[in-house]
Amino acid sequence: MNGLIPMKTPIVEIDGDEMTRVIWAWVKDILLKPHVDLLTEYYDLGLANRDLTDDAVTDEAAEAARRLGVAVKCATITPNEERMIEYGLQRLYPSPNATIRAALDGTVFRTPILVAGINPYVSGWRKPITIARHAYGDIYKASELSLTDGWQDAKVELVATRPNGEQQSRLIHDFGSSNSQPAGGIVQGIHNTEASIHSFARSCFEYALSRNEDLWFSCKDTVSKTYDRRFRDIFDNLFAKCYQDRFTAAGIEFYYTLIDDAVARVMRSEGGFIWATKNYDGDVMSDMVASAFGSLAMMSSVLVSPDGIYEYEAAHGTVQRHYYRWQNGEKTSTNPVAIIFAWTGALARRGQLDGLPELTDFAKRLETATLDTIARGTMTADLAAISSLTDKKSLDTEAFLNAVAIRLQQ
Ligand code: NAP
Ligand code: MG
Repeated sequence: MNGLIPMKTPIVEIDGDEMTRVIWAWVKDILLKPHVDLLTEYYDLGLANRDLTDDAVTDEAAEAARRLGVAVKCATITPNEERMIEYGLQRLYPSPNATIRAALDGTVFRTPILVAGINPYVSGWRKPITIARHAYGDIYKASELSLTDGWQDAKVELVATRPNGEQQSRLIHDFGSSNSQPAGGIVQGIHNTEASIHSFARSCFEYALSRNEDLWFSCKDTVSKTYDRRFRDIFDNLFAKCYQDRFTAAGIEFYYTLIDDAVARVMRSEGGFIWATKNYDGDVMSDMVASAFGSLAMMSSVLVSPDGIYEYEAAHGTVQRHYYRWQNGEKTSTNPVAIIFAWTGALARRGQLDGLPELTDFAKRLETATLDTIARGTMTADLAAISSLTDKKSLDTEAFLNAVAIRLQQ
């Protein structure tokens, strides 16, 4: 016995890039390893290693998450042309997050971390609002046409053709039939799939149960009587068939409302629920909700598959600008809270699944120690700039982590 809290099953540890990679190691050394006999299966998704393995390591990490059920991921660079030169890459690799999300067929849930002194801009919000964005299809996989340059007189139809040649069609618009000037216009074709909407709905119901929070789903089925209506029906049917009883037993609710009504209710609410949205609504609303809660650095994120695999991460990126300063020998005051919470999320889940209450309890204590440290006025510079506390001091990242470590001992 070494006095450390034991683990049974390894957590899939997915390392990443730049400043978050530096902080990753500090969080483990300063906050985790002194208390937990940390058991992980390590995958290095730093850009150099993705290049070395021709990105096979990303697929291996996703496979490990599927096998072991709980993963924690550091932020990673999604390379663009500049990064290709900076790192001398063989090719432009896809976003690791997109690869892992596709492999797990998962939904991303983003939840703000609330702390005393950082007040949401919406004064009624007392509890976090979690946004679940359906990340497949709709306008993000659209086919579009511009009917200008000679095509102003076109008639546009939706046509579905079966392998046997059978067809059905709907008129979208006959641009040629109108005399309005200037003539022509634009058209867009979008789709979604039964499988993807089902997976999304299941992930949402499962996650609501795991957090014991109400689930809202919103779309615009009054206007989109087939497309959006299908989303609503899939949620309603799945709920009635598989989740009604479990929700009742847990004392939580699922309810559907129109997107505009949902927006109005969210503003008037006190928070404490999960809001499931279609792809575009989630894209827009998650940015609004995140900034209204105060700071991107205080946003946690978890990818949940329909069969209950969880991958925890911070919502922010690799904090590139801070990294370049750190490389030049400067100490930076980069906020590690969302990274700490990614680890505590994974440890708590592992503790639950493996029947290790001591591990789950440690995760809760570390979260409390982190939030107490900030509430008592010790924080990183980004929070000091917006905190309403009068007595506050801003520390560099390592000093802040050490302050949390001391509080954890108390
Ligand atoms: P970012 O890393 O989130 O940083 C944007 C800015 O937000 C920072 O420059 C910093 O502002 C502030 N910030 C973010 N996190 C912070 C923290 N923990 N503490 C203090 N300030 C924080 O986004 P980015 O610069 O657009 O992207 C950098 C790289 O991250 C890109 O290569 C991108 O591909 C990648 N990325 C990865 C993920 C992921 O893996 N989940 C997500 C997003 C982006 P100041 O500089 O003003 O202090
Ligand atoms: Mg967005």
